Amino acid sequence: MRKNEPVRMCITCRVREPQQKLIRLQEKNSNIFPYTGQGRSFYICTGCCENEKKLKGLMKRFRLSSEDSEQFVKYLKELDKNG
Ligand SMILES: [Zn+2]
Repeated sequence: MRKNEPVRMCITCRVREPQQKLIRLQEKNSNIFPYTGQGRSFYICTGCCENEKKLKGLMKRFRLSSEDSEQFVKYLKELDKNG
């Protein structure tokens, strides 16, 4: 690990990881989507991405509709596939 590498915390399991290793997301109007460079963002780790239970907790926290939740999970699965 390089010195001064920014470390961020996973919003779900609170693990601390270098920023690069985490997935940056954004929440707006009860929807979660990839960070656009503006507004409030948060991070989740790849472990939580694969943990449906944790994802469900996260969606509940942000009051996502089931449709939005589906899209969110789809997005994470795509990320997973692409590495
Ligand atoms: Zn996590």
